[in-house]
Amino acid sequence: MLDRTSPRQASSGKTIRSPADLAINGAPPAFAEPLHVGKPNVGDRAAFMRMADAMFDSGRLANGGPLVEELERRLAEHLGVRHCLAICNGTVALEIAIRALDLSGEVIVPSYTFVATAHALYWQGITPVFADIDPDTHNLSPAAVRRMISSRTTGILGVHLWGRGAPVDELQAIADEHGLKLMFDAAHAFGCSQGGRKIGGFGSAEVFSFHATKFFNTFEGGAIATNDDELAQRMRLMRNFGFAGFDNVIHPGTNGKMTEICAAMGLVNLDGIETVIATNRRNHAAYSEAICQLPGLSILPYDAEEAGNYQYVVMEVGPNCPVTRDAIVAALQAENVLARRYFWPGVHRMQPYRDLFPNAGALLPQTQVVADRVVVLPTGTAVTPEDCRVIAAIVEITERA
Ligand SMILES: *Cc1c(COP(=O)(O)O)cnc(C)c1O
Repeated sequence: MLDRTSPRQASSGKTIRSPADLAINGAPPAFAEPLHVGKPNVGDRAAFMRMADAMFDSGRLANGGPLVEELERRLAEHLGVRHCLAICNGTVALEIAIRALDLSGEVIVPSYTFVATAHALYWQGITPVFADIDPDTHNLSPAAVRRMISSRTTGILGVHLWGRGAPVDELQAIADEHGLKLMFDAAHAFGCSQGGRKIGGFGSAEVFSFHATKFFNTFEGGAIATNDDELAQRMRLMRNFGFAGFDNVIHPGTNGKMTEICAAMGLVNLDGIETVIATNRRNHAAYSEAICQLPGLSILPYDAEEAGNYQYVVMEVGPNCPVTRDAIVAALQAENVLARRYFWPGVHRMQPYRDLFPNAGALLPQTQVVADRVVVLPTGTAVTPEDCRVIAAIVEITERA
């Protein structure tokens, strides 16, 4: 049964049959060029160049020019929301949404996420309170969220981790019951759905990241989606220093504007997302087939009933695996497969949170278990299904070594 994976011939020409074939044991690497998690997906370059030329001709480079306006229109339509604000990056988008919702005191967040989710709160004097996750979904556990509510809690900031929807209905019920605001960090979830409904319309606002490493990118960028007219109006002011026309500042604000060249990248890449989804989905299937037959290993599945972008191939190294997670990562990296330990060690074990809440881990047992067993594998348009099978063969031989 195992022989379905190995031996495999890598693109470098070496055959992976025994531990002596592994780069970690001195053999040449399986891949001449590094395979990255989150290598940028770039759409039609000629179309981008034409749009850039038109932009230079127009003389509009920033300040909500025609490309940003068009991108916002198309994103709102794609997400099925009333308002979509293009922002310079996902972190500033989180900061603006958090401030526009008037969050203060304590806000409940997962620790198992990218550090920006917590930093966007802390940066504005709000205490992130970390709640544990469900080890099966890697998303917030509603029961754990309930346990973390205090008299200082003003909101819940959920994350749709790996593009898999958070338990939106349960979190909304908790928020309603306790008079809390609910918003989502949807940085991973562009193009995804939850319960058949497009992510973008849940809670008061949802925030996307369009960073180069994300499924859909605008070089750097982000967006805030909301169906709340008044909130959208306030966030538009905040994004542009509070300006309501020339010389007329009516609100505190920051500079969260997206540039025209970034919007051009977004418009071009938006036309290519179906291709990227198909590629990611094909790679995810190839990895799942090859990895899930190996002892102690599994690939986190995506719900076939939901829309998904399949951007993250999340391998879990279970207790029955004969080698450690870190041994697998070291073996892969030696082969130029730059697998990552996302989101190890958990935000609560990063600064400043580690010093501020030295005992947080006691209430985050599942976060720590999951953070210790995940490896994210390279995918995207730079990775072929055969590459996925070669990577699985490397993992298989590492397990036997
Ligand atoms: C990437 C990411 C962010 C930050 O977005 P940027 O556009 O890089 O600022 C926030 N939260 C999560 C979960 C992310 O993955």
